Amino acid sequence: MYSAPRGVPDILPEDQVYWHYVGQKAAHICQLYGYERIDLPVFEDTRVFVKGTGDTTDIVQKEMYTFEDRGGNSVTLKPEGTPSVCRAYLEHGMQNLPQPVKLFYISPIFRYDRPQAGRYRQHYQFGCEAIGEADAFLDAEVIDMAWRFMKSLGLRKILLYINSIGCPQCRPDYLGKLRSYYKGHVNDLCPDCKIRLEKNVLRLLDCKQPGCQKIVAAAPRNVDYLCPDCTEHFAKLKEYLKMLDIPFEVNSYLVRGLDYYTRTVFEIQSEEEKAQNALGGGGRYDGLIETLGGKPTPGIGFALGIDRIILNLKKEAVDVPPIPAPQVFIASLGEPARNEAMKLAAALRQKGIGVISATSAKSLKAQLRQANNLKISKTVIIGDDEVKAGTAVLRDMFTSQQSTVKLSELPKLLK
Ligand code: AMP
Repeated sequence: MYSAPRGVPDILPEDQVYWHYVGQKAAHICQLYGYERIDLPVFEDTRVFVKGTGDTTDIVQKEMYTFEDRGGNSVTLKPEGTPSVCRAYLEHGMQNLPQPVKLFYISPIFRYDRPQAGRYRQHYQFGCEAIGEADAFLDAEVIDMAWRFMKSLGLRKILLYINSIGCPQCRPDYLGKLRSYYKGHVNDLCPDCKIRLEKNVLRLLDCKQPGCQKIVAAAPRNVDYLCPDCTEHFAKLKEYLKMLDIPFEVNSYLVRGLDYYTRTVFEIQSEEEKAQNALGGGGRYDGLIETLGGKPTPGIGFALGIDRIILNLKKEAVDVPPIPAPQVFIASLGEPARNEAMKLAAALRQKGIGVISATSAKSLKAQLRQANNLKISKTVIIGDDEVKAGTAVLRDMFTSQQSTVKLSELPKLLK
């Protein structure tokens, strides 16, 4: 017996109703906000992520599935979507299109994480990117879109956090303040944070260790060290979000785990969960396109974790509409009747009616039981007598009422 790789869930038929629901809602919200779908490869040149995601991030340092292909090229299974979209934006000359270019994707994402509930080594993200516009108006629209999407799914217990982490002009000053604050607490830091203090001081604010959380609580806040432009950008964003009636909270220690963010960052979290409570997040990345070799081009986007969204839909007992399934079953008795059944099934499907035929020669009772198990509403029964008369028995599976109808009239009747 083989099993799926550790931390890689199978998505079984009984769960597809949720995936279908989320996928349809995603496509719908994208249509409302003018985002077009883009499908990109599952793997990329490793440099896209080392450069794009950033080589000091946990993703690049610890979590990537990187391997050499048979041609000796280093490739990496996509550990996030944004650098791939930016790579495609540049490769396909999208800077020549009217800006901002608005794209969305639904893609598997691979991270060599420690598997647990809500944390997998392959998960799926619904992501949106708006590239080519720096105005806070767009930040507000992007956050509005992510928030409305989550609400449109029927999730009630969610919270929105925003923050500004400044720009290359004002961030060094803040990082200096943060570093000196942490140097005063170095003996109380967890081993990981001691390394972070040397390598990437902003990441210290991400630490979930209780001891480090206490130190975070009194750390200098980025919003107090923003330059005038970043201050104005953040003020505008908050003004727009209030105008749009979006309930948000400023979380001064929200930094998110990626190097490329500038100014706005945001996260949508589940109100109930403690661990794995981030359902999705995003932010502005005004330097990323340039890092990947393009002209300075601003951008903003988000990625929402579909697996975790579905866990929360279940937890909140959200009613999800079923995927339409065949509503007609054809039962037949004897070889001539089976031939009629096969022809009738083909005729019904051509009319757009979904059909399940009994495929092996079982008793009528067993065939009706099969129809019941499939929750089918109408069963057509054909036996020798019906074949001779050119008729069939039509049975309503809920009331058990039966009537005899002409075979030739069935497609029209059932339609
Ligand atoms: P990130 O790119 O880390 O901001 O991830 C965006 C969203 O994807 C998160 O908020 C989660 O909902 C989801 N996500 C990230 N990593 C995982 C994982 N290992 N397993 C399941 N979902 C994940």
